[in-house]
Amino acid sequence: MNVKTRIAPSPTGRFHIGTARTALFNYLYAKKTGGCFCIRIEDTDKERSKVEYETEILEGLAWLGLEADEFVRQSERAPRHAELLQRLIDEGKAYISDELSHERAFDTIDRPRRDMNKVMNLRTQVIRLKNPGKEITFRDEIRGDITFDTTELGDFVIARSISDPLYHFAVVVDDMDMGITHVIRGEDHISNTPRQILIQGALGAPRPIYAHLPLILNEKRAKMSKRSGDTVAIMDYRAEGLLPEAFNNYLALLGWNPGDEREYFTLPELCEAFSLERVQRSGGVWNREKLLSVNQHWMREMDDAMFAKEVHGMGDFDIDSIHKVVSLLKERAHTFKEAHDMLEADLRCLFEEPALDRTALVKKEPVDRAGLTKIALSELKAHITSLADDATADDAKSALMPYADAEEEKGKGGRGAVLWPLRYALSGQERSPDPFTLIALLGKGDTLRRIDAALALLS
Ligand code: GLU
Repeated sequence: MNVKTRIAPSPTGRFHIGTARTALFNYLYAKKTGGCFCIRIEDTDKERSKVEYETEILEGLAWLGLEADEFVRQSERAPRHAELLQRLIDEGKAYISDELSHERAFDTIDRPRRDMNKVMNLRTQVIRLKNPGKEITFRDEIRGDITFDTTELGDFVIARSISDPLYHFAVVVDDMDMGITHVIRGEDHISNTPRQILIQGALGAPRPIYAHLPLILNEKRAKMSKRSGDTVAIMDYRAEGLLPEAFNNYLALLGWNPGDEREYFTLPELCEAFSLERVQRSGGVWNREKLLSVNQHWMREMDDAMFAKEVHGMGDFDIDSIHKVVSLLKERAHTFKEAHDMLEADLRCLFEEPALDRTALVKKEPVDRAGLTKIALSELKAHITSLADDATADDAKSALMPYADAEEEKGKGGRGAVLWPLRYALSGQERSPDPFTLIALLGKGDTLRRIDAALALLS
């Protein structure tokens, strides 16, 4: 069988993590089986569909790298929907009725066409499918056999008029015409499936293979939703500086398990490893920490130039300065936004001369602290002078720690009385990287100049 899957988002809201995961699983399954992945924008709900949502969804899918082999806009298929609605009416498989009426028997199916058109224009008229009222069992690849008694659905509405089909009808016609073999979608669509199978029956359409994915739950085990205060729009995560690689990796593991302990997958690796059998039935619980750690992994995998460019894109830091601290940022940041915020806060001192405050420099009591601080800084200065120009943080640490340790032994102010003024002299900040890292990043010349500036405050 030539597999063909689709993601069929309705552009009635922002690009949601649930849609992204459904798209991913459809993409993975298609690629795994050498099949075709399609995007179909389901914009038949004219009131709620918005161009900006469609744009966001398409941008989001492109950002994730889920490229489609085929693209369809449902509204462009309106003539085809109308044709098949008409056919069902002509064949007596559907009929026009009052919106509120649930009765099967209705005389409109026997009416001449010209009357029917008139009836169609009345807002209270709808088109209903004649429901044979039987039990329907379908196989779900994830949940096994599911049975529904469809009698209680009655003759349900499939269109508001010949030119206004409802979701169930349009989805079935499009899946049929596009030759969709696998319908992989959220489990909130399970209850829609019997209706769609009945429509397939009326149209003589083949039944696709169904796979309903578990919901994405928030930490309170409720469905992730904007209303519960959850961040559900993919583009908000993108703005925060998450990588598409991380998103695909994380979303894949939210509902699917690879069967081993492996945590990190590229998109091609996911295509290789994916199988519907390993999709779990229970809801996947969103875990932001996990997402961030996966993101950190993929950030670290990036080459430094790309990494610096991403951080640069978050604000106005100059790219060469960012370059100098890439390894530090890779060590600490989980998102590019976080990396940028570090440059604004803890790492600011690397780009700007610190404005030192004497009280902060000598820190606390006792009174002779200024004297001790001066001695400490002078001593450190001597050690730093003898460092090589390209000394690393480790080199600086090995050169300076023995002195700090010796002070600790003496017990006067301990290591802190040595390391605090050094770190403060170099950064002018309460919080910053450790002094050895600062020395390595500032370079020997700047380091010594900043120490001199601090000493000048004490004389
Ligand atoms: N348009 C539907 C939605 O956005 C999806 C339809 C389907 O996957 O069958 O929920």
